[in-house]
Amino acid sequence: MPEHIKCLIIGSGPAGYTAGIYTSRANLNPVLIEGMQPGGQLTITHEVENFPGYPRGESGPGIMSDLRQQAIHCGTDIRAGMVTHIDFKQRPFRCIVDDNHEFVADTVIVATGATARWLGLESEEKYRGFGVSVCATCDGHFFKGKDVAVIGGGDTALEEARYLANLCRKVYLVHRRDAFRASPAVQKNIFNTPNIEIVWNHVPKEILGTQQGFLKSVTGLLLSNTLDGSEQAIAIDGVFVAIGTIPVTDLFRGVLELTPEGYIKTQPAPFTNIRGVFAAGDVQDLRYRQAITAAASGCMAGIEAARFLNENG
Ligand code: NDP
Repeated sequence: MPEHIKCLIIGSGPAGYTAGIYTSRANLNPVLIEGMQPGGQLTITHEVENFPGYPRGESGPGIMSDLRQQAIHCGTDIRAGMVTHIDFKQRPFRCIVDDNHEFVADTVIVATGATARWLGLESEEKYRGFGVSVCATCDGHFFKGKDVAVIGGGDTALEEARYLANLCRKVYLVHRRDAFRASPAVQKNIFNTPNIEIVWNHVPKEILGTQQGFLKSVTGLLLSNTLDGSEQAIAIDGVFVAIGTIPVTDLFRGVLELTPEGYIKTQPAPFTNIRGVFAAGDVQDLRYRQAITAAASGCMAGIEAARFLNENG
């Protein structure tokens, strides 16, 4: 028997949990499906200084744990699992979780967020989990006292580099241009950290390593100069890829209208092209992509879901 509910929230980042808080308080008794990475991207973020309410900053997992508890406290029914099928052709909307549990929902809030972007090199795939990572907080301790490279020039790359500089002997920060995209506040500490070496105008061409049976390890990085095409290799033990994110929208392709970049099109946020289906957070936001803007759009989606049910029954 399908489970009929007023509001299904898909995703558990700041947007999903905040939507949970608002729809719970509006008596929608929401069910929130957590997905593969409960807590979302912030759970792999070392320190967050710009989420309001934490005067001394807080770890990403700490903030997400607080938000989750707040959503539960307000009445959100949080369930583990992945939404595997959707049918938004008519209302109520059908969503199947883990291929076996069917929800019939009067409204749906999509807050599936975004996931790490990879370089797309064959060698990156080969050494993933054996020296290639997208999360310094998760994997940095494997490289204590060693040399590593961080790829990227945004806030994430610089924060990863700063975090790793405390653990590693040396951190190469490899960026494809000669100026960082990261905010000035985050850039401030990078230039005067003695064990961070910035490698401007270079991109990884190949990740070098060795393999003995199943055991693989990274030994270096072949870099290509973006200005003149020349190549140079650096000796390192680990590579942290921090070149941005891609929205998690595979499930909605062909169902919800997407932007050319693959984000859910909201005009204005949080409305999608299907009435009763709302989108919040990074899955629909190419521009800001902050935890606080995700939380705010989760709030908007929650309010609109409640308003929609009031108006449409
Ligand atoms: P961004 O998209 O901001 O930055 C990605 C970086 O990777 C850019 O410097 C880009 O270069 C580079 N890049 C992209 N593709 C490639 C490629 N194929 N090869 C080499 N380099 C590449 O992503 P972030 O994850 O850093 O940040 C995402 C959002 O999250 C941002 O809005 C950011 O402000 C926010 N954020 C905020 C934090 C904070 O405030 N504490 C912490 C972390 C993230 P180029 O610059 O040339 O485009």
